[in-house]
Amino acid sequence: MSCKPKILVEAENFSIAQCANCRRIGFHFKNILVGFEADAFLDFIKSYSKVDFDKNCTMLVGQEQIILKTCHTDIQFAFNRAEFDFVNQRLQQAKVILEANRILEL
Ligand SMILES: [Zn+2]
Repeated sequence: MSCKPKILVEAENFSIAQCANCRRIGFHFKNILVGFEADAFLDFIKSYSKVDFDKNCTMLVGQEQIILKTCHTDIQFAFNRAEFDFVNQRLQQAKVILEANRILEL
């Protein structure tokens, strides 16, 4: 079956979509698109929400940025504070939708 992405959350330069067939998630921010299995994505949201930007940021290309691991060992996100907050809000929206969808599927 081919993938049928359905948008869960959309904003400027940003989308989170889930395939109606294989349930994989596509996380699209600016010019990056990273794929996650649904469970790995929920784990990512959970760990993301626990990150303290101020305690963990590092200077990178002249500004404070946070380095975040993904389920792909060689792919990490580097976000400045505004990007980190923006993505955090969108991830929380996606979480609510994913959890609601999961309940509907039961
Ligand atoms: Zn698919």
